[in-house]
Amino acid sequence: MELVKGKKVLITGGTAGIGKGMALTFAKNGSDVIIFGTNEERGSVIVNEMRELAQSEDQKFGFLKVDVSNYEESLAKAQEAMDLLGGVDVLINNAGITRDKLLMKMDEEDWDQVLDVNLKSVFNFCKAVVRPMMKARSGKIINISSVIGLTGNPGQVNYAASKSGMIGFTQSLAKEVSSRGVCVNCIAPGFIQTPMTDALNETQKAAIMQKIPMQKLGQTEDIANVCLFLASKLSDYVTGEVIAVDGGMTA
Ligand code: NAD
Repeated sequence: MELVKGKKVLITGGTAGIGKGMALTFAKNGSDVIIFGTNEERGSVIVNEMRELAQSEDQKFGFLKVDVSNYEESLAKAQEAMDLLGGVDVLINNAGITRDKLLMKMDEEDWDQVLDVNLKSVFNFCKAVVRPMMKARSGKIINISSVIGLTGNPGQVNYAASKSGMIGFTQSLAKEVSSRGVCVNCIAPGFIQTPMTDALNETQKAAIMQKIPMQKLGQTEDIANVCLFLASKLSDYVTGEVIAVDGGMTA
């Protein structure tokens, strides 16, 4: 697809699961891609995989090690990425974790970690890119929320709060920056086959399947394909939206 050819794309949490799927998809479609994560070894494997899939040898790829919950570190690494690529067209805030427990058993650290990695990271990276995007009068920010942010789920008050928070953040930022050509949207994945969902036990998986009209888990490509749309000019009049990619779960 020519639509994202030459685009400069930053992806947080690009070393596994959904983020890895996005990184490979954008590489295949001609974009320059920098992924951010905590695992250097996995990062360099993905960078090599992106190179193998690239349309041309001129495409730039990189991995930068960063804890996305750390404000100063995130600003510095996002700037480093923009310097390496010569700007930014697309930011995908994808890094996320779960620390599932019933509220009664959840401690302060479970709350803080999930809110910091899932939600504060979005603030950190948006702060870094929004000024250059507004100056360029163009940019696409895509925040990876979750259907849990729309519906809630027992055992996930921290995760659900972080993912609902992303939606409010997205709608507000969209209202701030859309007049300057910057679109901000959310994707709310349902259950996608990744290391995050591989960790569920068989009883949990069976319960989930009952809630999915399509009767199957989504694949990372299902999310990456919607990212391609939101990153391209096909979605230039779409902002402040939440697109559920969930096999019908929230229908
Ligand atoms: P994953 O665990 O496979 O990957 C998460 C990524 O985030 C990894 O690359 C990891 O290194 C990175 N990460 C975690 N903490 C980090 C930190 N402090 N600093 C930098 N990077 C960090 O998860 P996934 O299933 O691919 O999920 C990706 C996103 O999609 C998450 O935000 C998740 O909440 C969301 N999501 C996933 C599903 C699903 O079914 N898998 C459903 C809905 C939403």
